[in-house]
Amino acid sequence: MISAFSHLSADLQTIATADLYRSRRVIDSPQGIHLQLEGRSVVNFCSNDYLGLANHPEVISAFKAGVDQYGVGSGSAHLICGHSRAHHALEEELAAFTGRDRALLFSTGYMANLGVMSALLGRGDSVFEDRLNHASLLDGGLMSGARFKRYAHADVEQLKPHLDQATGNKLIVTDGVFSMDGDFAPLKSLAALAKSTGAGLMVDDAHGLGVLGQNGGGLLDCFDLTQDDVPILMGTLGKGFGTFGAFIAGSEDLIETLIQKARTYIYTTALPAAVAEATRASLKRVIADNWRREHLNHLASRFRSGAEQLGLECVKQVEEPLGSDVRLLSAIQPIVIGDSARTVKISEHLLKAGFLVSAIRPPTVPKGSARLRVTLSALHEEQHVDQLLEALDNAVNAVTL
Ligand SMILES: *Cc1c(COP(=O)(O)O)cnc(C)c1O
Repeated sequence: MISAFSHLSADLQTIATADLYRSRRVIDSPQGIHLQLEGRSVVNFCSNDYLGLANHPEVISAFKAGVDQYGVGSGSAHLICGHSRAHHALEEELAAFTGRDRALLFSTGYMANLGVMSALLGRGDSVFEDRLNHASLLDGGLMSGARFKRYAHADVEQLKPHLDQATGNKLIVTDGVFSMDGDFAPLKSLAALAKSTGAGLMVDDAHGLGVLGQNGGGLLDCFDLTQDDVPILMGTLGKGFGTFGAFIAGSEDLIETLIQKARTYIYTTALPAAVAEATRASLKRVIADNWRREHLNHLASRFRSGAEQLGLECVKQVEEPLGSDVRLLSAIQPIVIGDSARTVKISEHLLKAGFLVSAIRPPTVPKGSARLRVTLSALHEEQHVDQLLEALDNAVNAVTL
């Protein structure tokens, strides 16, 4: 008898043989620059809690107060009876924060991306995506049923002719800050191209919002781009904001369309109201605490120059001028190693030395470009960065193939 899925064990073996096997680490502490892992403390260089808000006392007390007021579960989807005053207030605050007509909360960023693209695109339409876009954007484009075209990373020239030939509604979709590279999309050129070809533009600024720009306005703020230039903005709340969830911000018509048509909005339980209350508190810190962004940028620059001195390969940064003299860097500063097995071994070596840095391998990144995805936090100090650089130097020299 042949049983269903009897190939799983062999498939798992294939993944392991290619050094692509993934497993989880069990953490016993809150998020922060020190994590409790298997009975010891390690310095954390892989979290997306860039601003150090996931365990902030004001965010925690807002969450607790939210639970006292609303209980834990939201009870249903937003359109039934799960849309609380807390959700509503957060949406209004996010709209003001992003300088847009409206914002709509989704339970996760993954669902926001699937929901928007499926609501706006269908067969006969065309979607254009940067090759290095986040998986949720690629999946959203594929699921929408539109004609799907990937363009070379940040290559506006290559994208141009495809747009001219396209039919139906056209949508260009890009990460703002790329999640595995930490570099920036050429948003000014993309916005100009979208305008001149009558295409829509959607930017997923999961790693830029809160982290970059005046008062945390994100990459669009750095580039001075408005709702008119970038009609669809997606942001996540589980990264720089330190809580959970995501939102889409844009015009009145866009948001109303999503409420009518986005299946990942309609057919899922609203996130807990207390999470919305916690996020309202973290949004206040995001806006007020410019020191977090300034410190992050300083650490990123210190890490990059240190890594370059050690002969390590950093990811190239944006070439498009940002309109200021400050050299802006994201909180994501990966070191490209190349080989998957070697990357994993270096990461294990670092862990032994007390540093948690994740090894990112294909298919999350292109073949042959496995990397250590170093992320910085506003709570790191210079000495943490210097210690990591020393440990990296030791690990890279110790681990040969
Ligand atoms: C993390 C991430 C998402 C998904 O957001 P979740 O809220 O974690 O589901 C989407 N896009 C990008 C670029 C991301 O980095």
